[in-house]
Amino acid sequence: MSSVPTGPVPPANAPQENVPAGTSAVVVGGGIAGIAAATVLAERGVAVHLVERGDQLGGRAGAWTETLSDGQSFEMERGFHAFFRQYYNLRALLRRVDPELAHLASVEDYPVLGPDGTSESFAKLVRRSPFNVIQLTHRTKYMSFGDLFKVNRKPALDMFRFDSEWTYAEYDDKSASDYFDSLNFPDKARSMLFDVFAHSFFNPEENMSAAELLMMFHFYFTRNPEGLLFDVAQRPFSTAYWEPFAQYLQERGATVECGCVASGLRRRQGRWVVDTSSGEIVADMAVLAVTVPALKALVDASPELHEESWLQRVHSLGLTNPFAVWRLWLNKPTEEGRAPFVGVTEYECLHNISLYHLFEDESREWADKCGGSVVELHAYALDPQLGADEIKGHMLRGLHDLYPETRDAETVEERFLLHQDCPSFAPGSDAARPTVETPFPGLCLAGDSIKLPFPSALMERAAASGMMAANCLLAPLGVAREPITTVPRRGLLRARRHDRAR
Ligand SMILES: Cc1cc2nc3c(=O)[nH]c(=O)nc-3n(C[C@H](O)[C@H](O)[C@H](O)COP(=O)(O)OP(=O)(O)OC[C@H]3O[C@@H](n4cnc5c(N)ncnc54)[C@H](O)[C@@H]3O)c2cc1C
Repeated sequence: MSSVPTGPVPPANAPQENVPAGTSAVVVGGGIAGIAAATVLAERGVAVHLVERGDQLGGRAGAWTETLSDGQSFEMERGFHAFFRQYYNLRALLRRVDPELAHLASVEDYPVLGPDGTSESFAKLVRRSPFNVIQLTHRTKYMSFGDLFKVNRKPALDMFRFDSEWTYAEYDDKSASDYFDSLNFPDKARSMLFDVFAHSFFNPEENMSAAELLMMFHFYFTRNPEGLLFDVAQRPFSTAYWEPFAQYLQERGATVECGCVASGLRRRQGRWVVDTSSGEIVADMAVLAVTVPALKALVDASPELHEESWLQRVHSLGLTNPFAVWRLWLNKPTEEGRAPFVGVTEYECLHNISLYHLFEDESREWADKCGGSVVELHAYALDPQLGADEIKGHMLRGLHDLYPETRDAETVEERFLLHQDCPSFAPGSDAARPTVETPFPGLCLAGDSIKLPFPSALMERAAASGMMAANCLLAPLGVAREPITTVPRRGLLRARRHDRAR
């Protein structure tokens, strides 16, 4: 891993411990990106006002309290999240409230299951690249020695040539599915090794940038020193992380206001005025860490932000297809030996299955008490025309096929979510994607849709972008930036001495 410089370099007399007294910031959006920005700023003495539209912090990784029909309360989430080991910045953030990362538990294997008993395991792969790729290619049942010779070498080797400038120039206009086609992998190997991976970014292959896909390969696999390993939260995100974060921020003088909607920004005497549902907030600096539609709406409603080329960048952002999360409380246990999490391929509308009772406290307690199981099904990059019933039908067929013991289980309780709020990474979208810095002094963007100068994705991108936003705002004040860490920035076949030295 390596540290990356981010934003303007503080003057020579830095670091100072704290900003000048009275320095203030408003952070709009209480997802991971907003929490990361607010944390870094508050730790350096900035008087932070964090406003969040929802009733709780966490955004897309949030959790809220619901009640089961037996009267038991539980924390519902938008579903299973994998905390990969190379999420250095997210982990550094979470350590503020969970110093030993004790709320995370490791998942030893996450096999991919397909129809007719097909499966692929990613367990016990060596961590170092390219040996991990060689080992996986060698041990998979779905690719023979002969097939290897038919693979198109140039695009295959480009997985090891990631370089943000070169890869985006070469591949951003192509789609991920065109890239997969160009590899000439056998169909089964493609579906077992690649399809689940591509789906995990919520974008449909045919409308996802091949450059973004190659960045994901680089970040998760070909240049990930931690190996394909991830952890899961053993407790609901709310009690494990977001409630402690609200307290952590308040202890550092921040105001955390949930249920508060920001509607526009203005400048007044060199400061930012944010109009919200609970009145004006005036601050020296501002971070917008909101979802894509909310960012567009906020900027549209703020005429002072209508700098033509930047406005076009903001407008270039979009949302990808909907996703579905279906949590089922079943009256029967799942078979002994099932993995807590599996990827699923070749089933319409089913991309992974998590067995919550195997790793999360609340679900384990419920399953122990009732002799049942808590199963969560996810489907990504869905056709927007599909209705809830159709999606559920597909999901259930997949579950029954892969885990036959669930066929005659009764559903005691269920929660179904169908949303569309994850960012699109369509072919050709990179050049216009907005960055953390904006043309406006004291205003930064953060979130998992924002372009970063190093490989990153999803929750980690949200955390890193929030930290970068705080660093950009702190730099002119001469205050020490938050260290930001990433996997090596270039692929093995493109690594420069600079990368190797670290
Ligand atoms: C089903 C599912 C599974 C996922 N699995 C994984 C995974 O396994 N691994 C992984 O790394 N990532 C995963 N992700 C992605 C991850 O959840 C996101 O990348 C991350 O949470 C994004 O954080 P964010 O802060 O950028 O945005 P958000 O979480 O969307 O935060 C933006 C916040 O802004 C608030 N807001 C919007 N408008 C306003 C306004 N006008 N005023 C005030 N507040 C406003 C919103 O309410 C929201 O809380 C998953 C996502 C989903 C949906």
